[in-house]
Amino acid sequence: MKKIILCICLLCLTAMQLYAQGRFPRFKVLAFYNEHVEPAHVEFAEEAIVFFKKLTEGNGFVFDVTKDLNDLNDEKLKDYALVMLLNDVPGSPQQRQAFEKYMQNGGGWFGFHVAAYNDARTNWPWFVDFLGAGVFYRNNWPPLPATVVIDKPEHPVVKGLPQRFVAPLNEWYQWKPSPRAHKNIQVLATLAPENYPLGLKDIIPDGDTPIVWTNTAYRMIYLNMGHGRGIFSDATQNKLIIDAFKWVIATDKKGNVFER
Ligand code: ZN
Repeated sequence: MKKIILCICLLCLTAMQLYAQGRFPRFKVLAFYNEHVEPAHVEFAEEAIVFFKKLTEGNGFVFDVTKDLNDLNDEKLKDYALVMLLNDVPGSPQQRQAFEKYMQNGGGWFGFHVAAYNDARTNWPWFVDFLGAGVFYRNNWPPLPATVVIDKPEHPVVKGLPQRFVAPLNEWYQWKPSPRAHKNIQVLATLAPENYPLGLKDIIPDGDTPIVWTNTAYRMIYLNMGHGRGIFSDATQNKLIIDAFKWVIATDKKGNVFER
């Protein structure tokens, strides 16, 4: 019994020392989530929250979730190494300005699926350029699995992944022009050409469909996955998501928390 109490005390002391040294949390993430959007996008967000909350265990980071886009403000964002948009985008000028400022000052961003959607009503040129200047062009329906090809096998986000894998079913988006044409966009994964024609009701017949990319002028990753349940059901894709997340955190100009 004494041994158990001693062990608990030592663990508490270690935790207190980490707090005292400012090493916990190693970093904080703020995820934005809207529960009043397309049901499949809500389902995805709910599973993503469970996935990333689970990832905090033993990894020394905090994963905060908010439904209030007004949390995109200077005061709130200063504590966070990464902002995650699960199924929505900032709408008000204040939210958008705070987000631009955060990113231009070295903030980290992780966006899924509909976070990059744009159309004639978006009216946010900075954000469209941030994502590679592509306008939403077409999608497949119903959601389907698809073969993914890795573009830059040497990049830390996709290093160690098989050159090709089958991603779980998703509604895939294609953009026009392809974000690949933007000088600052580095595409990391793309739908394989043999997927085409992809869809039944809505069909992606051909073309270039990047699905994971980074804008090299910022610390960010966009992933097109994010429609419905089951996105986190594939080990290979989960590795890609975790490695992408880790890379955005690791490239913080304030230093790599994973090397401390
Ligand atoms: Zn969708």
